[in-house]
Amino acid sequence: MASPYQRSNTPADARHSSRLGFFQRFYLVEVLLGLKLTGIRFFANMWRHTLHTVFGVKSAHGAVTIQYPDERRPYAARLRSLHRLVRREDGSPRCVACMMCETVCPAHCIYIVASEHPNPEIEKVPERFDIDLGKCVFCGYCVEACPEDAIRMDTGILEFSSYSRGGMIYTKETLLALEPAGHNGAPTSPVPIPADRGMPLERGALPKRSMP
Ligand code: SF4
Ligand code: SF4
Repeated sequence: MASPYQRSNTPADARHSSRLGFFQRFYLVEVLLGLKLTGIRFFANMWRHTLHTVFGVKSAHGAVTIQYPDERRPYAARLRSLHRLVRREDGSPRCVACMMCETVCPAHCIYIVASEHPNPEIEKVPERFDIDLGKCVFCGYCVEACPEDAIRMDTGILEFSSYSRGGMIYTKETLLALEPAGHNGAPTSPVPIPADRGMPLERGALPKRSMP
């Protein structure tokens, strides 16, 4: 029995070819029709590009392909990109090493070592603050949990792949050096790290944490 949700013009058996026209049954014809459409688009775009770049006709735009990474589409304002640590006016981290982000992180990829802050009005400061982006799932919980607004994911940097696992571990110094993205969401700080920056990458570079 036919499903009540089945569209009336859908054959009961998708493999059934009785609804195909005479030429559609010769798939080669359909392939050639597809190639024809591709060819028309290709030459039309090439002509528009030629007008634009060679003859200076600024109104002629070719394909809508974005020449990434030289060109980028604007990112959404709420995009979660590479983390950064917010700095105080003196350049020190705003982070007070409360461990909230480390505790809430579902991927257990934040590692913080707290120490006393020289300023008695500030309780703690992170002596070490590492994020292993190879494990991060970009959930943003660390940002939401932070009571000091000390960690943000607004750098606009999305390209931080590495040839090594150690290259995915971002230290406090690196995270502090990053700047927020520009008005269109594009990064304002350079992608911080060469693909493999020779960090100590040995397995266990980040101490293992016990699972709750
Ligand atoms: S974004 Fe999520 S997974 Fe990544 S460090 Fe923050 S809390 Fe952990
Ligand atoms: S939650 Fe904020 S203040 Fe607390 S350790 Fe994380 S970044 Fe630092």
